[in-house]
Amino acid sequence: MASRKVPIKAVLIDLSGTLHVENTAIPGAVDSLKKLRGTGIPIKFVTNTTKESRRCLFERLIGLGLELRKDEIWSSLWAAQDLLRSRNLKPMLMVDDAALEDFSGLTDYGEEEQNAVVIGLAPSMFNFSQLSKAFRLLLTGAGVPLIAIHCGRYYKRCDGLALGPGPFVRALEYASGCHSEVVGKPSPTFFRSALGDVDPAYAVMIGDDVKDDIGGAQAMGMRGFLVQTGKYRTGDESRISPGPAAVCPSFSEAVDILLKEYAQSEGDS
Ligand SMILES: [Mg+2]
Repeated sequence: MASRKVPIKAVLIDLSGTLHVENTAIPGAVDSLKKLRGTGIPIKFVTNTTKESRRCLFERLIGLGLELRKDEIWSSLWAAQDLLRSRNLKPMLMVDDAALEDFSGLTDYGEEEQNAVVIGLAPSMFNFSQLSKAFRLLLTGAGVPLIAIHCGRYYKRCDGLALGPGPFVRALEYASGCHSEVVGKPSPTFFRSALGDVDPAYAVMIGDDVKDDIGGAQAMGMRGFLVQTGKYRTGDESRISPGPAAVCPSFSEAVDILLKEYAQSEGDS
């Protein structure tokens, strides 16, 4: 007799590299997401995407045929603006123009008023002049926080891998001697807020980043399913210990495992 499986009460799904790469859905992802929805298991889309506001991201994903609601998107950008407002901070924002919509009311501070540096994926701002400006602000006094929307080392674009915000966050830390506060994955606070009341032991995270998605989720008691799409590189599964709970060629195979487990746990109950 097959062993009883742990019931699944939440599935967290990464977006970029797992369900899509830029404006192309990963083959099979649209249909598999539909199948997963058929179980009724609550789903959250947890993303470190920092280039786009939640609304832009939602509209783009809907355009790819993915079935989701805006309030199911747990974005690190959204978490960052929430943190700024709750601490009444006046930031120097190093984020892409397309992300500014999420920061309405937080964009108009003069340099003399700024008391925090926020850094996301902002290719047009990753130059000597802007980075030096951020560095000087961090040096102006105690308590100017360096808030990293996430510290991803690189990400997958249509033309290949490209540098993420992580290397630039580390450069500012190195120069100023301060430590960043990381808002997005793999921060436990981020995963916890996405899970709500669900015990991590009953949750699964599916993603293509072995450290930020899988390592981060498993460190707080979830199971992590690594997909071999997006930024996945051969051998990634051996870069964390313990390794991923499952390694799947793509999102579709990850969903197949979940559907099997779900059917089994329903049958056993
Ligand atoms: Mg990803």
